[in-house]
Amino acid sequence: MVLGKMVYLFGGNKTDGGSDLRNLLGGKGANLAEMSRLGLPVPAGFTITTEVCTAYYQNRQKYPQALKKEVEAALKHVEKAMGAVFGDTRNPLLVSCRSGARVSMPGMMDTVLNIGLNDQTVEGLIAKTDNPRFAYDSYRRFVAMYGEVVMGLKAESELAQDPFDALIEEVKNQKGYRLDTELTAEDLKGLVRDFKELIRTKLGRDFPEDPREQMWGALGAVFSSWMTPRAVAYRQMYDIPETWGTAVNVQAMVFGNMGRTSATGVAFSRDPSTGENYFYGEYLVNAQGEDVVAGVRTPNPINRTKPLPAGVTTTMTDEMPKAYRELDEIRHTLEKHYRDMQDIEFTVQEGKLWMLQCRNGKRTAQAAVKIAADLVREKLIDETTAINRVDPDQLTQLLLPSFDPQARREVIARGLPASPGAAVGQVVFSASEAEAWAHNGRKVILVRLETNPADINGMFSAQGILTARGGMTSHAAVVARGMGKTCVAGASDIRVDYEHKEFHTKSGLTIREGDWISLEGSKGEIIRGQLPTIAASLTGDFSTLMKWADNRKRLGVRTNADTPHDARTARELGAEGIGLCRTEHMFFAPDRITAMREMILATDHSGRQKALDKLLPMQRDDFFGIFQAMDGLPVTIRTLDPPLHEFLPHTEEEISDLARALGEDRTRIRNTATHLQEQNPMLGHRGCRLGVVYPEITAMQARAIFEAAAKAVSEKIKVLPEIMIPLVGHEREFSLQKAVVDRAAKEVMAETGIRLKYLIGTMIELPRAALVADKIAAAGAEFFSFGTNDLTQTTFGLSRDDSGKFLPDYLKEGVWEKDPFVSIDVEGVGVLVRLAIEKGRSVNPALKIGICGEHGGDPDTVKFCNEVGMNYVSCSPFRVPLARLAAGQASAAKLQAATTPKKPAVKKPAAKPTAKPAAKKPAAKPAAKPAVKKPAAKPAAKPAVKKPAAKPAAKPAVKKPAAKPAAKPAVKKPAAKPAAKPAVKKPAAKKPAAKKTTK
Ligand code: PEP
Ligand code: MG
Repeated sequence: MVLGKMVYLFGGNKTDGGSDLRNLLGGKGANLAEMSRLGLPVPAGFTITTEVCTAYYQNRQKYPQALKKEVEAALKHVEKAMGAVFGDTRNPLLVSCRSGARVSMPGMMDTVLNIGLNDQTVEGLIAKTDNPRFAYDSYRRFVAMYGEVVMGLKAESELAQDPFDALIEEVKNQKGYRLDTELTAEDLKGLVRDFKELIRTKLGRDFPEDPREQMWGALGAVFSSWMTPRAVAYRQMYDIPETWGTAVNVQAMVFGNMGRTSATGVAFSRDPSTGENYFYGEYLVNAQGEDVVAGVRTPNPINRTKPLPAGVTTTMTDEMPKAYRELDEIRHTLEKHYRDMQDIEFTVQEGKLWMLQCRNGKRTAQAAVKIAADLVREKLIDETTAINRVDPDQLTQLLLPSFDPQARREVIARGLPASPGAAVGQVVFSASEAEAWAHNGRKVILVRLETNPADINGMFSAQGILTARGGMTSHAAVVARGMGKTCVAGASDIRVDYEHKEFHTKSGLTIREGDWISLEGSKGEIIRGQLPTIAASLTGDFSTLMKWADNRKRLGVRTNADTPHDARTARELGAEGIGLCRTEHMFFAPDRITAMREMILATDHSGRQKALDKLLPMQRDDFFGIFQAMDGLPVTIRTLDPPLHEFLPHTEEEISDLARALGEDRTRIRNTATHLQEQNPMLGHRGCRLGVVYPEITAMQARAIFEAAAKAVSEKIKVLPEIMIPLVGHEREFSLQKAVVDRAAKEVMAETGIRLKYLIGTMIELPRAALVADKIAAAGAEFFSFGTNDLTQTTFGLSRDDSGKFLPDYLKEGVWEKDPFVSIDVEGVGVLVRLAIEKGRSVNPALKIGICGEHGGDPDTVKFCNEVGMNYVSCSPFRVPLARLAAGQASAAKLQAATTPKKPAVKKPAAKPTAKPAAKKPAAKPAAKPAVKKPAAKPAAKPAVKKPAAKPAAKPAVKKPAAKPAAKPAVKKPAAKPAAKPAVKKPAAKKPAAKKTTK
């Protein structure tokens, strides 16, 4: 790899980069440069590019040769800008070393502060500041941080205490102090000595005194933290490619711990939980940034916009009015400049305000929607930008229920309303337990004193997170918001006892591991027991945003629904029709299964017909209910799909019951069931193969559909039935089934005298069907619907039923970037899809085309479907809004691409490096002309959804922050345990119905 310029300056009188170089400088570096350019007070520093990180890993963790020289030159710039010298014993410059990837990975990578301190330079710092306590406080923080992050001296287990903290506690106990701030300069000096001794005894190595060795050690640690298990897990969770690498920012230190006129804080230009437009933030006097983020001390709010939490009496507006005013002005400048909500880190050093970071702030779905809509009203962005600001996956959060306000709630303690939602679960006290319990299907609430990046998988597995310490910008709060998890943070009312796995409330109540609690995230309430929930209401800004998306989208959005209830739910959520009604679900009801079994067990045609005659009125009623719910909208009904043996009795008890009901011999029933059993039912007698062998089944279903349609017409209901034949692989299969359907239609029309309009089409869910799609179209298929569950299964040769056992390993190994049952495999399955569309439309240009596999609710797949010219996507009811938004974004992007002249990649500053390409796959592109034409009106309704997987999801979603905002600073002590095995898979919301059998 040929490297260009490796080090970019910012601050002082020279800034090389800007926000357009985010890929190269990482989010933090690019924004530091941008703030410098805006004239904001940024301590000088330099950024080592992400390309260096990539080269470092490609070259067995060695730096490029020229790097040293560039770093030395940059250090000179910083020294000059700050008027101090790195390593100088009289006027020492201290620096921080922080990671900064292209997208924010809150707390996942390492940071080292106060680099440059040793026994000599600390004296210089004392002389310079006349503040020995501050100097030794900085020094002891540095030694502990360096010992932990760079040298690897960490707590021995998740529940064990940090070894450096243990020494601090010892001194505090000896001296009878309550707070860290009571430690004197002498105490801190002693701690520096003790920390170094601890490093020597535990690691058998000395803490390095040479500032340059310290700096290179820190740089190495930050680059290496790109590959820690927690960072790897985070990247998998959010689809961040490993090849992006991280940049490293080396920046002059400024100090919030220089006494009562110094402070450090984190703020958001709007409330990241609700989206309300007020300046929201927290600060701590006489502290360093890590204290706020780590949640060790609970910070105070920066202003009085909202009522102060219990026990808080002062704010930054009271204590540091001048710095606050300046900060507030910067807030407006940054919002106007970036046209988005900003997450800001600042430090006040002896009254002077310094900006340490800004980025687009992570936010909940609720906040994302409100902020996007407000920014349009404030004329800062247009509607298209607004719809692009909301991550479709995140919308799922808004569809989640809240607690029933009528239910009696026993609030046992309160904390900060860190991330909204209603979470119910059993209490666990460690991230690994949260994972293990969740793995066994239990719902858990993770309770911690505070969280740190090592807890990421446990947080992901939990329904909600409760911490006893930390503020609204603590690690727990920020990460939970990003994940869409309910979180109550800083609940100082509770006392957590890890040892006995319990927590105690002020009123004396003890909650033990396994006890049920509920968390009300938007109120910060901790409630005893399992509180009932109610469905979400989707109005206001949400519907405004949806309207903007609908106005732009070309794709129709339908739903997969099998019952009138599901159909109504989906209609309420904006479905424009049913794209898949799986008729087999109707046969499982207790009043039908016997008739179904009678049909299967029949030994001849007349016996089968007799049973089918019993099923007919039941099916007719089902279809009528669905037509009623979807009045005016198209309804695609698929003929029977699963293998017949699925309907047969399995247990001896079921066999006896059936024998009794049918007056049949048990042995015959058992034998028939055994005879029907298949080795590989997925590839067996299912789909249209059933109808080809037993056309009377298809005939009964078709008649039920048409009779229901005729009844609906007679009741002035507008019906648009579309009959769909599954698992077709040869055009003859289709024509045979079509003939049966057409005959039934003719008969019903003749009998009722009602003219019925209908379409007949096929699913494309076998590779062969895609390859001969022109022939299937020529056989009269009026529409295609891609069954991408089966198409993925058969293209990959990957069983929907069995792949769950090894798929996570494949994702971990990077064989597949994403679960192919969740997001369409563009390179493989996608090629078949394009081909089938091309071939189908070459015969019938008006061919209507959609998708009804679970992929239809995946935002990336929706974009793909838009691109290849499908007419609609169909997904489970609760994913309909997500698909609408993704469809709107897809059309907007296409429009933008068509109207924006191509411009050279990235504008680079003077000395030229190589800017990285962009993000992901460009997506190979064959032709494919749409036919389009928007489906009619817009409906609504509520699901039931069979496949649990296909469901709305109690989980967040979030994923790829790429296009999105950012999150919280890293900082924080680097995790007690490095482990944390990758979570891989996306939240439940995303899991497809891999399983076929009982669909
Ligand atoms: C499919 O295969 O994608 C499909 C929708 O059908 P089913 O999941 O019912 O097999
Ligand atoms: Mg299928």
